[in-house]
Amino acid sequence: MNTINQTLKQYYGYTSFRPGQQTIIEAILKGRDAMGIMPTGGGKSICYQIPAIEMEGITLVISPLISLMKDQVDGLVAMGVKAGFLTSQLTLDEQNETLRQAMNNEIDLLYVSPERLENTYFLSRLRQMQVNLIAVDEAHCISQWGHDFRPSYQAIPAVRDHCSTNPPFAAFTATATQKVREDIVAKLELSNPYEFTASFDRPNLTFSIVHPKKKQVKLLDLLKDKESSIIYCNTRKNVERVHSLLKKKGYDVGYYHAGLTSAERTQYQEDFLYDKSPIIVATNAFGMGIDKSNVRRVIHYNLPLDMESYYQEAGRAGRDGAPAEAILFYSSQDIITNNLLIEQGNHPHAKKNLNTIISYCKTGRCLRKTILDYFDENPSFDSCANCSNCNGETELVEVTQSCQKILSCIFRMDQQYGMGLITDVLRGKENARIKSQGFNELSTHGIMKDSTDEEIKDIIALMVSEQFLHVGGDQYPILKFTEKSVDLLHARHQLFMTKHQKETVKAKQPFTE
Ligand code: ADP
Repeated sequence: MNTINQTLKQYYGYTSFRPGQQTIIEAILKGRDAMGIMPTGGGKSICYQIPAIEMEGITLVISPLISLMKDQVDGLVAMGVKAGFLTSQLTLDEQNETLRQAMNNEIDLLYVSPERLENTYFLSRLRQMQVNLIAVDEAHCISQWGHDFRPSYQAIPAVRDHCSTNPPFAAFTATATQKVREDIVAKLELSNPYEFTASFDRPNLTFSIVHPKKKQVKLLDLLKDKESSIIYCNTRKNVERVHSLLKKKGYDVGYYHAGLTSAERTQYQEDFLYDKSPIIVATNAFGMGIDKSNVRRVIHYNLPLDMESYYQEAGRAGRDGAPAEAILFYSSQDIITNNLLIEQGNHPHAKKNLNTIISYCKTGRCLRKTILDYFDENPSFDSCANCSNCNGETELVEVTQSCQKILSCIFRMDQQYGMGLITDVLRGKENARIKSQGFNELSTHGIMKDSTDEEIKDIIALMVSEQFLHVGGDQYPILKFTEKSVDLLHARHQLFMTKHQKETVKAKQPFTE
């Protein structure tokens, strides 16, 4: 048995490495930069902790959450690993003592926040430490393309200049598209890093999209078995509303959002962790660092803002490997609300992210494959037999013909207008704007008069998210063709839309002409 296997056994009690762990550790031990992309719970910590234990000197771990740092360090100390952390919550004496231990090589790992790297006193001490590795946790926070950008992460690459030892860098994240991965390598200035990407697939999770007539009724139905569940809502108000509904119905349920006091949050979190109240209703503020293995179901009561957050949140179900569910409630009202949030906020990629989620809700393809494709994993299967699309819970409606009508209308309007006006023309409206442009004379005017605005907009949203249309324009969103549009216009491509059979109010034959 080689030494890293012994270390794994001795400190962690595990007999074998998970995929990627050993090769990442070996690369680091050779002094090479490394990047590990592994899902939450995939075992990233061991990848830098074992090198830290093995090598002379000290590993600096940059971690974004103070609460996580303490838990990690407590865990390490309990296993007999010498580790410390620096946060502003410690007294100055405590901080100085930890720095002293670090400079005297009395600890193997030092956890710090990225903000600490902007502190000149700390940087001057760093020079006196024998830093053998810089491990960056949640490395996607350095990328503006990611979903969690933290400006303080930009201070990380300069730390190289403050170390006298030229340590390797190792970056870890659970969520990164190819683009974000490349950005991490560039921003952290990793040189020829060893990269390992674990499969993101979570075979024990059943993914479902439901389109409930009444969300509350559906929710109560799902929770009948009282299994441990997390219900994510988009606003504090919705969290409180859903929480009081469940409370009224007699559930042991807690809630969590950033408006609670920290004592309240800790209390609800612990009640959840120890199954005193096995159900929790929360905003996306809840969950980072929560390691509860028996969560049987994660329900998104509202549309999440992007695929990364969705997958990370949904992935909190079934960490024990037993069957668990990830259920997303879809409603067009949420699309409107999210659009508004995006308009009001200042998130450059929010619109694209929203389209990705809408596309996920609307696709007729295997949901698991859709997710894995998004993360550039491109699995070889077409059907997972374990999602609501593969299980036949959704009805596929072909919308190719409607798409042709919409595209042809956009073409005749010279690709200069947005969704609202295009929809009005397709429905045959005769308002002043339409008349002044002569759009009432177009052959496509009124060509979809039997559809509702929402049906047309749903199809446009689907085409946008499937890249058959592109949203351009400087001032306001204009729908333009992409290189794929002509194929659809000539029906060389078919497009299908899901109807969530059991849950939808049956509209009168909306998509057949
Ligand atoms: P991540 O940081 O990727 O979310 P962790 O490092 O916290 O994941 O690991 C998740 C869990 O998996 C921990 O309980 C950890 O002890 C366990 N684990 C990690 N590596 C192994 C392994 N090789 N064998 C068994 N369990 C492991």
